Amino acid sequence: MPEGDVVKITAQRLDAALRGRAVERAELRWPSAASIDLTGRTVVEVRPYAKHLLTRFDDGTTLHTHLRMEGQWRVARTGTVGAGARGTDVRAVLANEVWTCVGERLGMLDVVRTRDEHVLLGHLGPDVLADDFLSSPDSGVLLALARLRGAAAAGGFPAQATAGGRTSAGSRGLPLADALLDQRGVAGLGTIYTAESLFAQGLWPWTQVSDVSDRDLEALLRTARGQMLRSVAEGVGTVRRHVHGRARRACHRCGTPVAVARANEAPFERPIFYCPSCQKP
Ligand SMILES: [Zn+2]
Repeated sequence: MPEGDVVKITAQRLDAALRGRAVERAELRWPSAASIDLTGRTVVEVRPYAKHLLTRFDDGTTLHTHLRMEGQWRVARTGTVGAGARGTDVRAVLANEVWTCVGERLGMLDVVRTRDEHVLLGHLGPDVLADDFLSSPDSGVLLALARLRGAAAAGGFPAQATAGGRTSAGSRGLPLADALLDQRGVAGLGTIYTAESLFAQGLWPWTQVSDVSDRDLEALLRTARGQMLRSVAEGVGTVRRHVHGRARRACHRCGTPVAVARANEAPFERPIFYCPSCQKP
């Protein structure tokens, strides 16, 4: 699943292709938005918020998309074969005279008024990759700490309903891995940066948030942000991973075979990789 670093890079590429240009061709192959015609509107900007993409238009409209498990936006020069966008995976097309942006296998798509974006995103914690995550007076990191502390005190985040009507049990407190994966405390991390930041800080993934000091919790968030920004700067997939996807291979630090176990409760389980020696309970 694409995490905040991939989404930030995607937003940068879309912004470079679309900003300041009028949309000459627009297609939304999505049941609830199929009748909406974005043609003729000018793109003001494309911004990421954690794992969400916001394409804002000059008439006060926002196209919200999410890559979910395996979605992507690709950019092709208008008029080339790649800009044809004829595949069955295509969910959205936004094209101007120079560039054509094609959204494939998108997991969410909504068109809302820009001033109503909060209806879609208001439940999320601060974006770990926001420019002001560390710097503003009421910085995102402090707000994230408060949200994580609040959830831990309540015994975990409230259960979420799934499409199938099942809910998570929410009965085992709030382990660090679950806390980082749940987008309501801090938003933008998935399994890769949850595992890599916990490894970097030497924390066992199932340590209760309530057992970690504010200082260590903030250091964890800063570490995850730093790792993700490095990925944005150097290129996704080029930064060396120490645990994620390395089950049974030797830990880079101590040589112990890397292990993998489950974070979250059914039906939201996610694999989390860790070193049993460097990250002890
Ligand atoms: Zn180790």
